[in-house]
Amino acid sequence: MSIDVEDYFHVAALSGVIRPEQWGSLPSRVERNTERLLELFDSHDVKSTFFVLGWVADRFPQLIKKLADHGHEIASHGYSHQLIYNQSRETFREETIRSKALLEDIIGREVNGYRAASYSITKESLWALDILSEAGFTWDSSIFPIRHDRYGIPDSPSAPYSIETANGNVLREFPLTTAHVMGMAIPAAGGGYFRQFPYPVFRYLFRNASGFGDRPQMFYLHPWEIDPDQPRYNNASWFSRFRHYTNLDCCYGRLERLLQDFRFGTVSESYNAYEPDKTLLRSNQMIRLA
Ligand SMILES: [Zn+2]
Repeated sequence: MSIDVEDYFHVAALSGVIRPEQWGSLPSRVERNTERLLELFDSHDVKSTFFVLGWVADRFPQLIKKLADHGHEIASHGYSHQLIYNQSRETFREETIRSKALLEDIIGREVNGYRAASYSITKESLWALDILSEAGFTWDSSIFPIRHDRYGIPDSPSAPYSIETANGNVLREFPLTTAHVMGMAIPAAGGGYFRQFPYPVFRYLFRNASGFGDRPQMFYLHPWEIDPDQPRYNNASWFSRFRHYTNLDCCYGRLERLLQDFRFGTVSESYNAYEPDKTLLRSNQMIRLA
Protein backbone atom coordinates (compact mmCIF):
# COMPACT_ATOMS: atom_id res chain seq x y z
CA MET A 1 0.00 0.00 0.00
CA SER A 2 1.42 3.36 -0.93
CA ILE A 3 0.12 6.91 -0.64
CA ASP A 4 1.67 9.89 -2.43
CA VAL A 5 1.17 12.69 0.10
CA GLU A 6 0.42 15.81 -1.94
CA ASP A 7 -2.42 18.32 -2.26
CA TYR A 8 -5.00 18.53 -5.06
CA PHE A 9 -3.18 21.55 -6.55
CA HIS A 10 0.17 19.73 -6.95
CA VAL A 11 -1.18 17.35 -9.57
CA ALA A 12 0.35 17.37 -13.07
CA ALA A 13 -3.13 17.15 -14.68
CA LEU A 14 -3.95 20.61 -13.23
CA SER A 15 -0.54 22.22 -13.82
CA GLY A 16 -1.94 24.09 -16.84
CA VAL A 17 -4.37 26.04 -14.66
CA ILE A 18 -2.53 26.27 -11.29
CA ARG A 19 1.00 27.68 -11.10
CA PRO A 20 3.42 26.67 -8.30
CA GLU A 21 3.54 30.36 -7.17
CA GLN A 22 -0.17 30.04 -6.28
CA TRP A 23 0.18 26.90 -4.14
CA GLY A 24 0.86 28.77 -0.89
CA SER A 25 -2.33 30.84 -1.13
CA LEU A 26 -4.73 27.97 -1.97
CA PRO A 27 -6.80 26.25 0.74
CA SER A 28 -4.81 23.16 1.71
CA ARG A 29 -6.72 19.90 2.24
CA VAL A 30 -3.86 17.42 2.44
CA GLU A 31 -3.67 17.25 6.24
CA ARG A 32 -7.31 16.31 6.81
CA ASN A 33 -7.39 13.89 3.86
CA THR A 34 -4.21 12.14 5.01
CA GLU A 35 -5.61 11.93 8.55
CA ARG A 36 -8.70 10.16 7.12
CA LEU A 37 -6.45 7.63 5.40
CA LEU A 38 -4.46 7.17 8.60
CA GLU A 39 -7.65 6.45 10.56
CA LEU A 40 -8.83 4.01 7.89
CA PHE A 41 -5.50 2.14 7.81
CA ASP A 42 -5.32 2.05 11.61
CA SER A 43 -8.86 0.64 11.83
CA HIS A 44 -7.92 -2.13 9.34
CA ASP A 45 -4.55 -2.69 10.98
CA VAL A 46 -2.79 -1.91 7.69
CA LYS A 47 0.65 -0.33 7.49
CA SER A 48 1.34 1.80 4.44
CA THR A 49 4.28 3.59 2.84
CA PHE A 50 3.69 7.34 2.57
CA PHE A 51 5.72 9.03 -0.18
CA VAL A 52 5.76 12.58 1.18
CA LEU A 53 6.24 15.68 -0.95
CA GLY A 54 8.83 18.01 0.64
CA TRP A 55 6.50 20.98 0.08
CA VAL A 56 3.91 19.25 2.30
CA ALA A 57 6.48 18.15 4.92
CA ASP A 58 7.68 21.76 5.25
CA ARG A 59 4.16 22.95 6.10
CA PHE A 60 2.81 19.97 8.07
CA PRO A 61 5.76 18.35 9.87
CA GLN A 62 3.47 17.18 12.69
CA LEU A 63 1.42 15.17 10.19
CA ILE A 64 4.51 13.35 8.92
CA LYS A 65 5.70 12.68 12.47
CA LYS A 66 2.27 11.26 13.31
CA LEU A 67 2.33 8.89 10.32
CA ALA A 68 5.74 7.61 11.41
CA ASP A 69 4.63 7.34 15.05
CA HIS A 70 1.71 5.15 13.94
CA GLY A 71 4.21 2.68 12.43
CA HIS A 72 3.89 3.68 8.77
CA GLU A 73 6.90 3.93 6.48
CA ILE A 74 7.99 7.39 5.32
CA ALA A 75 9.56 7.71 1.87
CA SER A 76 10.25 10.71 -0.39
CA HIS A 77 8.11 12.11 -3.21
CA GLY A 78 10.70 14.81 -4.01
CA TYR A 79 10.18 18.46 -3.12
CA SER A 80 8.52 20.45 -5.89
CA HIS A 81 6.43 17.87 -7.82
CA GLN A 82 8.00 18.93 -11.11
CA LEU A 83 8.43 16.23 -13.77
CA ILE A 84 12.01 14.95 -13.60
CA TYR A 85 12.50 14.83 -17.38
CA ASN A 86 11.77 18.59 -17.44
CA GLN A 87 14.32 19.34 -14.69
CA SER A 88 18.07 19.84 -14.95
CA ARG A 89 20.23 17.26 -13.18
CA GLU A 90 21.50 19.98 -10.82
CA THR A 91 18.00 21.08 -9.80
CA PHE A 92 16.93 17.47 -9.31
CA ARG A 93 20.03 16.66 -7.24
CA GLU A 94 19.56 19.71 -5.01
CA GLU A 95 15.87 19.15 -4.28
CA THR A 96 16.30 15.38 -3.82
CA ILE A 97 18.99 15.84 -1.18
CA ARG A 98 17.05 18.68 0.53
CA SER A 99 13.74 16.82 0.73
CA LYS A 100 15.37 13.62 2.03
CA ALA A 101 17.10 15.57 4.82
CA LEU A 102 13.86 17.39 5.66
CA LEU A 103 11.94 14.13 6.16
CA GLU A 104 14.79 12.58 8.16
CA ASP A 105 14.86 15.63 10.47
CA ILE A 106 11.14 15.31 11.10
CA ILE A 107 10.99 11.57 11.82
CA GLY A 108 14.51 11.15 13.25
CA ARG A 109 15.16 8.15 11.04
CA GLU A 110 16.74 7.42 7.67
CA VAL A 111 14.56 7.66 4.57
CA ASN A 112 15.52 5.06 1.93
CA GLY A 113 12.70 5.00 -0.62
CA TYR A 114 11.74 7.37 -3.41
CA ARG A 115 8.91 7.94 -5.89
CA ALA A 116 9.08 10.54 -8.68
CA ALA A 117 6.27 13.03 -9.33
CA SER A 118 3.96 11.46 -11.94
CA TYR A 119 6.31 8.47 -12.34
CA SER A 120 8.57 10.76 -14.36
CA ILE A 121 11.60 8.46 -14.47
CA THR A 122 11.41 7.51 -18.13
CA LYS A 123 14.06 6.67 -20.70
CA GLU A 124 14.71 10.46 -20.93
CA SER A 125 15.55 10.73 -17.23
CA LEU A 126 17.29 7.46 -16.26
CA TRP A 127 20.16 9.64 -14.97
CA ALA A 128 17.88 10.33 -11.98
CA LEU A 129 18.54 6.78 -10.75
CA ASP A 130 22.25 7.56 -10.41
CA ILE A 131 21.47 10.72 -8.41
CA LEU A 132 19.04 8.84 -6.14
CA SER A 133 21.72 6.29 -5.39
CA GLU A 134 24.32 9.04 -4.76
CA ALA A 135 21.86 10.73 -2.38
CA GLY A 136 21.63 7.51 -0.34
CA PHE A 137 18.35 6.01 -1.51
CA THR A 138 18.36 2.21 -1.70
CA TRP A 139 15.02 1.68 -3.43
CA ASP A 140 12.74 3.40 -5.89
CA SER A 141 9.17 3.02 -7.15
CA SER A 142 8.95 5.44 -10.07
CA ILE A 143 9.00 3.27 -13.18
CA PHE A 144 5.65 2.29 -14.65
CA PRO A 145 6.08 -0.55 -17.18
CA ILE A 146 3.39 0.80 -19.53
CA ARG A 147 2.89 3.15 -22.48
CA HIS A 148 1.35 6.49 -21.37
CA ASP A 149 1.45 10.10 -22.63
CA ARG A 150 3.32 11.38 -19.55
CA TYR A 151 5.20 8.45 -18.06
CA GLY A 152 6.23 4.84 -18.35
CA ILE A 153 8.99 2.67 -19.79
CA PRO A 154 7.08 0.13 -21.89
CA ASP A 155 8.65 -3.34 -21.80
CA SER A 156 10.56 -2.65 -18.57
CA PRO A 157 10.16 -5.55 -16.09
CA SER A 158 6.87 -5.89 -14.23
CA ALA A 159 8.60 -7.80 -11.39
CA PRO A 160 10.93 -6.03 -8.94
CA TYR A 161 14.51 -5.78 -10.17
CA SER A 162 17.86 -4.29 -9.24
CA ILE A 163 19.70 -1.58 -11.09
CA GLU A 164 23.44 -1.06 -10.74
CA THR A 165 23.95 2.71 -10.76
CA ALA A 166 26.97 4.81 -11.79
CA ASN A 167 28.59 4.72 -8.32
CA GLY A 168 28.39 0.90 -8.26
CA ASN A 169 25.58 0.79 -5.71
CA VAL A 170 22.46 -1.22 -6.36
CA LEU A 171 19.04 0.42 -6.36
CA ARG A 172 16.03 -1.89 -5.98
CA GLU A 173 13.18 -0.95 -8.29
CA PHE A 174 9.56 -1.77 -7.44
CA PRO A 175 7.46 -1.22 -10.55
CA LEU A 176 3.79 -0.30 -10.39
CA THR A 177 1.40 -3.20 -10.82
CA THR A 178 0.22 -4.13 -14.30
CA ALA A 179 -2.04 -6.85 -15.63
CA HIS A 180 -1.59 -8.32 -19.09
CA VAL A 181 -4.77 -8.49 -21.14
CA MET A 182 -4.52 -9.75 -24.73
CA GLY A 183 -0.77 -9.12 -24.70
CA MET A 184 -1.13 -5.52 -23.51
CA ALA A 185 0.13 -4.20 -20.16
CA ILE A 186 -2.85 -2.55 -18.40
CA PRO A 187 -2.17 -0.39 -15.31
CA ALA A 188 -3.69 -2.10 -12.28
CA ALA A 189 -1.92 -0.14 -9.57
CA GLY A 190 -4.49 2.34 -8.26
CA GLY A 191 -4.91 6.10 -8.70
CA GLY A 192 -7.08 7.17 -11.63
CA TYR A 193 -7.38 3.58 -12.84
CA PHE A 194 -8.79 2.57 -9.46
CA ARG A 195 -11.40 5.34 -9.69
CA GLN A 196 -12.30 5.01 -13.37
CA PHE A 197 -12.79 1.24 -13.69
CA PRO A 198 -15.80 -0.20 -11.79
CA TYR A 199 -14.44 -1.78 -8.58
CA PRO A 200 -15.05 -5.42 -9.66
CA VAL A 201 -13.07 -4.74 -12.86
CA PHE A 202 -10.19 -3.24 -10.89
CA ARG A 203 -10.27 -6.14 -8.43
CA TYR A 204 -10.20 -8.60 -11.35
CA LEU A 205 -7.17 -6.85 -12.90
CA PHE A 206 -5.36 -6.63 -9.55
CA ARG A 207 -6.01 -10.33 -8.83
CA ASN A 208 -4.77 -11.21 -12.29
CA ALA A 209 -1.76 -8.90 -12.18
CA SER A 210 1.59 -10.20 -13.41
CA GLY A 211 3.06 -12.37 -10.66
CA PHE A 212 0.03 -12.07 -8.33
CA GLY A 213 0.41 -14.70 -5.60
CA ASP A 214 4.15 -15.05 -6.20
CA ARG A 215 5.24 -11.57 -5.19
CA PRO A 216 3.85 -8.37 -3.63
CA GLN A 217 1.99 -5.90 -5.85
CA MET A 218 2.22 -2.10 -5.74
CA PHE A 219 -0.98 -0.14 -5.10
CA TYR A 220 -1.05 3.66 -4.85
CA LEU A 221 -3.51 6.45 -4.11
CA HIS A 222 -3.41 10.18 -3.27
CA PRO A 223 -5.12 11.86 -0.30
CA TRP A 224 -7.09 14.17 -2.69
CA GLU A 225 -8.65 11.11 -4.37
CA ILE A 226 -10.91 10.52 -1.35
CA ASP A 227 -12.00 14.19 -1.24
CA PRO A 228 -15.06 14.98 -3.41
CA ASP A 229 -15.37 18.45 -1.79
CA GLN A 230 -12.04 19.82 -3.06
CA PRO A 231 -12.17 23.06 -5.12
CA ARG A 232 -12.96 22.33 -8.80
CA TYR A 233 -11.03 23.82 -11.69
CA ASN A 234 -13.51 23.89 -14.52
CA ASN A 235 -11.08 25.78 -16.75
CA ALA A 236 -8.83 22.69 -17.00
CA SER A 237 -9.11 20.65 -20.19
CA TRP A 238 -11.87 18.06 -20.47
CA PHE A 239 -9.33 15.25 -20.30
CA SER A 240 -7.58 16.67 -17.21
CA ARG A 241 -10.93 17.09 -15.45
CA PHE A 242 -11.84 13.51 -16.37
CA ARG A 243 -8.54 12.25 -14.97
CA HIS A 244 -8.72 14.27 -11.78
CA TYR A 245 -12.41 14.37 -10.81
CA THR A 246 -13.94 11.02 -11.91
CA ASN A 247 -15.49 9.07 -9.02
CA LEU A 248 -13.89 11.05 -6.17
CA ASP A 249 -17.11 10.46 -4.22
CA CYS A 250 -16.89 6.67 -4.24
CA CYS A 251 -13.12 6.25 -3.86
CA TYR A 252 -13.07 6.04 -0.05
CA GLY A 253 -15.70 3.26 -0.07
CA ARG A 254 -13.78 1.37 -2.72
CA LEU A 255 -10.60 1.63 -0.69
CA GLU A 256 -12.44 0.09 2.27
CA ARG A 257 -13.48 -2.82 0.04
CA LEU A 258 -9.94 -3.19 -1.28
CA LEU A 259 -8.58 -3.40 2.28
CA GLN A 260 -11.06 -6.21 2.99
CA ASP A 261 -10.29 -8.08 -0.25
CA PHE A 262 -6.45 -8.03 -0.10
CA ARG A 263 -3.66 -7.99 2.47
CA PHE A 264 -1.42 -4.92 2.51
CA GLY A 265 1.80 -3.76 4.16
CA THR A 266 4.53 -1.16 3.73
CA VAL A 267 6.74 -1.38 0.66
CA SER A 268 9.84 -2.36 2.67
CA GLU A 269 8.09 -4.99 4.78
CA SER A 270 6.36 -6.53 1.80
CA TYR A 271 9.47 -6.76 -0.34
CA ASN A 272 11.80 -7.82 2.45
CA ALA A 273 9.55 -10.83 2.90
CA TYR A 274 9.93 -11.66 -0.77
CA GLU A 275 13.01 -12.91 -2.60
CA PRO A 276 13.25 -10.61 -5.62
CA ASP A 277 14.34 -11.67 -9.08
CA LYS A 278 18.08 -11.78 -9.27
CA THR A 279 18.04 -9.82 -12.54
CA LEU A 280 20.67 -7.12 -12.29
CA LEU A 281 20.46 -4.36 -14.86
CA ARG A 282 22.73 -1.37 -15.34
CA SER A 283 20.78 1.85 -15.63
CA ASN A 284 22.15 2.43 -19.13
CA GLN A 285 20.85 -1.00 -20.17
CA MET A 286 17.35 0.13 -19.24
CA ILE A 287 17.37 2.37 -22.30
CA ARG A 288 17.35 -0.68 -24.54
CA LEU A 289 14.22 -1.92 -22.78
CA ALA A 290 12.26 1.18 -23.70
ZN1 LIG B 1 2.59 12.98 -6.99
